Amino acid sequence: ARSMANVLKLSEPQSQLLDQVDVFIFDCDGVIWRGDSLIDGIPETLEKLRKAGKKMFFVTNNSTKSRAGYKKKFDGLGLNIPAEEIFSSSFAAAAYLEQTKFKETGKKVYVIGEVGICEELDLIDVPYLGGPADSNKMPDMGPGGRLEIDKDVGAVIVGFDRNINYHKIQYAQLCINEENAEFIATNLDAVTHLTDAQEWAGNGSMVGAIKGCTGQEPTVVGKPSPLMIEYLETKFGMDRKRICMVGDRLDTDVLFGTDNGLKSLLVLSGVTSEEKLLSPENSITPDFYADDINAFFAEAAV
Ligand code: PLP
Ligand code: CA
Repeated sequence: ARSMANVLKLSEPQSQLLDQVDVFIFDCDGVIWRGDSLIDGIPETLEKLRKAGKKMFFVTNNSTKSRAGYKKKFDGLGLNIPAEEIFSSSFAAAAYLEQTKFKETGKKVYVIGEVGICEELDLIDVPYLGGPADSNKMPDMGPGGRLEIDKDVGAVIVGFDRNINYHKIQYAQLCINEENAEFIATNLDAVTHLTDAQEWAGNGSMVGAIKGCTGQEPTVVGKPSPLMIEYLETKFGMDRKRICMVGDRLDTDVLFGTDNGLKSLLVLSGVTSEEKLLSPENSITPDFYADDINAFFAEAAV
């Protein structure tokens, strides 16, 4: 890890970094919005970067919406972003199944998660069960004391699910332990800011439940997994050294940048304080940090 002494706080004109970077990958919550509120000044900053010819992508670990769902959210906030520039961990899960040719197995997916994952599976035409459909179930132990599962489940996707219950956990457990279904996690975020007032248990808690009963480690498809950057490279042919990851979280966003050879900028407009960044306990160091992206690009000569 780089020494913290090297991390540079930026509050000056950043034309130098702008010259070095063609592509900005923006994390969403804590960078573009907080919950449902747009962070002040974002439309102007994005417009400025677009005018300067920068390519931008928006990557969120929140799996509750599909890419189309996020497109609507961006529209509702007055940000006109093309759908192809938006990546959610629900989309990443579907992209992973495509990459691994899951459809050719003829198997189904068991979903712990909300509509976002289901909508993405519909789009790639992979059959699934679980998700919202299982939200009101109690495990049916039946006369034989067994929960019978569909033997054709080949993968379990675990995303953020505010209606997770014992039925879903047992179903997933049986699919993974008895049918060797692949264990896929959209993301491992420990806590999230569902409201500004406090931290809320994140998808790390749902994934933790399934790890606890299977003893298995999941394949993670959201940040900091390299999957999304590989996808962007394949699809858009980009040079990693000229990409800057911008996020508010050290163990997802900044790690995604440092692990994958990207430049990284931490903003303090979300979950990470300057104190936490600079504390001796932190070993994840961005190249730069700033109060928010407006401060970072405020004086940029574009
Ligand atoms: N997961 C959930 C359920 C969330 O609510 C959030 C943020 O609101 C996140 C993950 C993190 O999202 P992002 O990667 O955009 O910061
Ligand atoms: Ca974030």
